[in-house]
Amino acid sequence: MRDLRRVLSFEPDSRANAVQRANQHRTERIEKEKSNLKAAILGATGLVGQRFIQLLDDHPWFDVTTVTGSDRRVGGLYGEAVQWRIESPLNPKVAELTIQPSETDHIDADIVFSALPSTRSLRIEEEFAEAGYVVVSNSAAHRMDEDVPLMNPEVNFDHLSLVDEQRRKRKWNGAIVTNPNCTTAVLTLSLKPIAESFGIKKVVMSSMQAASGAGYPGVSSLDIIDNIIPFINEEEEKVQRETRKILGRASESADFRVSASCHRVPVIDGHTEAVFVEIEKSAAPEDIAKSMAEFRAEPQKLKLPTAPEQPVVVRSEQDRPQLRFDRTEGRGMSVVVGRIREDPVFDGVKYAAIGHNTVRGAAGCAVLIAESMKAQGYL
Ligand code: NAP
Repeated sequence: MRDLRRVLSFEPDSRANAVQRANQHRTERIEKEKSNLKAAILGATGLVGQRFIQLLDDHPWFDVTTVTGSDRRVGGLYGEAVQWRIESPLNPKVAELTIQPSETDHIDADIVFSALPSTRSLRIEEEFAEAGYVVVSNSAAHRMDEDVPLMNPEVNFDHLSLVDEQRRKRKWNGAIVTNPNCTTAVLTLSLKPIAESFGIKKVVMSSMQAASGAGYPGVSSLDIIDNIIPFINEEEEKVQRETRKILGRASESADFRVSASCHRVPVIDGHTEAVFVEIEKSAAPEDIAKSMAEFRAEPQKLKLPTAPEQPVVVRSEQDRPQLRFDRTEGRGMSVVVGRIREDPVFDGVKYAAIGHNTVRGAAGCAVLIAESMKAQGYL
């Protein structure tokens, strides 16, 4: 009897609670939509543009409100124009957006994410920054400009201060901040704990890079299936110079040498890198592994929404990391390292590292930069 009374009294109560919870949820959603920053994605139909849309789906701070495309797509609905190549479904609200030209007077946004090809981005991104927009760019066009931060947030958070110099020098209220080339993003995150604890003298890296790194439709299937292509235009030069800029001071690139050899392989997503490092202080592989596994940086301290709990994950199995199992570690934001061992040529170590090229290597890194900028008051 006592049980029955409890059940009877519980039911109406629970219905009232459910209604109250639903109302509260709706109010929170409306409040969130009102307070969130509006995000525009330039070049939204490409692979990196699509990854932005996926990562910003339900983001606590940013809502995608504008998408742009090349002239042939302008005026069409995003959901009809895009060849959606992401594992999860396209948000219906974004599918309904009309594709805009990449021009400042067609954009209403608080932050602009650029996924434009570098042939188009140089001038377009400058126009947006001149018009007062903060542009976080995936493209190579401005990465090596002295007053433009080239950021992998866990590695060189302090380079954000270049934004002040950029605004002063260029006399604009907006800003351009760039993220690294995908291979460099994976490499520099794995190198940072070594640089911090032991110092770096030399780096040699040989990459095996996914087909999605070339965008969509990218490399022809007849070129890449059953094959490895030992050339990616400009890639080795980008890795060599960007790694030194990111691991250097804001005002000066690091002075160690980097040699990269890049290959395209028949993998859809994720880059694998064989890395050889000569270090300044002597250290055993276990010391290097410990420094990597324990590494945390500003994005983790600030608990930024896209920051992975553990930026560098170290696997101890002799046959890991492997892309199929490890590329989604930390929702694609962690770099996974394994096979850390002594190197018989260099006075240092060699290891294997993998990372997701369109997440840590592109859109995810850019979203983390935007979150860092918001946390530092730049947005
Ligand atoms: P993608 O798949 O070829 O996409 C580029 C997109 O830009 C296409 O959808 C294209 O639209 C659009 N576009 C061209 N001109 C435009 C304009 N004037 N306004 C608006 N949109 C325009 O290339 P992606 O892989 O996404 O790469 C985008 C950028 O990120 C590139 O600079 C690339 O180097 C860089 N990136 C890529 C990766 C990666 O892993 N893929 C990693 C790091 C950095 P149409 O389809 O209509 O031509």
